Amino acid sequence: MNQVDYLRISLIDRCNFRCQYCMPEGTELDYIVKQQLLTDSELLTLIESVFIPVGFTRFRLTGGEPLLRPGVVELVGAIASLPETQDLSMTTNGFLLAPMAQSLYDAGLRRINISLDSLEPDIFDQIIGNRGRSRWQDVWNGIQAAYHVGFDPLKLNVVVIPGVNDTEVLDLAALTIEKQWHVRFIEFMPIGNGDLFGDRGWIASEQLRLDIRERWGLTESQVRGNGPADVFQIPGAKGTLGFISQMSECFCDRCNRMRLSADGWLRPCLLNESGQIDLKTALRTGITTRELREQVRELLAIKPEINFKGRDTGTEGIYTRTMSQIGG
Ligand code: SAM
Ligand code: SF4
Repeated sequence: MNQVDYLRISLIDRCNFRCQYCMPEGTELDYIVKQQLLTDSELLTLIESVFIPVGFTRFRLTGGEPLLRPGVVELVGAIASLPETQDLSMTTNGFLLAPMAQSLYDAGLRRINISLDSLEPDIFDQIIGNRGRSRWQDVWNGIQAAYHVGFDPLKLNVVVIPGVNDTEVLDLAALTIEKQWHVRFIEFMPIGNGDLFGDRGWIASEQLRLDIRERWGLTESQVRGNGPADVFQIPGAKGTLGFISQMSECFCDRCNRMRLSADGWLRPCLLNESGQIDLKTALRTGITTRELREQVRELLAIKPEINFKGRDTGTEGIYTRTMSQIGG
């Protein structure tokens, strides 16, 4: 059985972008009210006294947009300084990153994933639902700042959207040639907004690899690593190319993660809503951390049965919440 030791922690469900595939404009999202968010102290208690004792050692801070969480730098510092934390990373849209990159690094964050779906400011703004001053340059500045501060690995996440940014795959892949950046192409998932791209659907990673291989050649760098990405490299490139193929290739049987929402729900599987535990209410009603450890251990034991295996069973995943709400 896979060791489940990786927790994706949503710090906040709100976001300063409205990506079409995540929280498109016009969708009604019930944001978590402040009183229902896990406080810093509750989150740290859960990490120290529940998750670490049951075996979690790797944490990723995400959202919504994690950099919108007040006190995020201090929170990073507190989690990074726990002796049991073997790995702490963050996924961000990068908009607020440039002025924060150095303090996040100084607080102990070393690994960062920044979403960058396009190198064309107009297309980028269209994807993130921005109608005001272009936000592309701010994100690009955030990427450059993270690079200069020394984040390593620095990963760029690209959700490939047919008819929108698929023509840029080669340009985005080319970023890895000169810089030790890791570009990861993610198949669009119909989470919470399945009809968004209608018949255009999603593009299989294998198709992207064919295009890249034809242009430069492609070698396998590391396949089936710890995470869900299959990793390749353009020969001679400094960085790598990752492909996250959750639509074309089920990787549920190697799932090593759980997700904690900003309001304290522990979720064993992204695409299956069963088994969730409301840790915040439990904490607030005086359930001891010892009892919570037992509940999480029981959940860990049944996770393999909960893991969505749509391709095996032919069933649909449950997509009632968007990635921003779940904590992508
Ligand atoms: N706001 C941050 C960001 O965009 O990087 C962190 C949260 S976001 C939910 C985490 C990742 O999920 C991003 O890389 C985003 O592109 C991806 N994502 C969101 N909705 C998705 C979907 N429907 N299919 C595939 N990836 C998605
Ligand atoms: Fe915000 Fe990230 Fe979702 Fe885009 S993908 S709307 S940046 S949470």
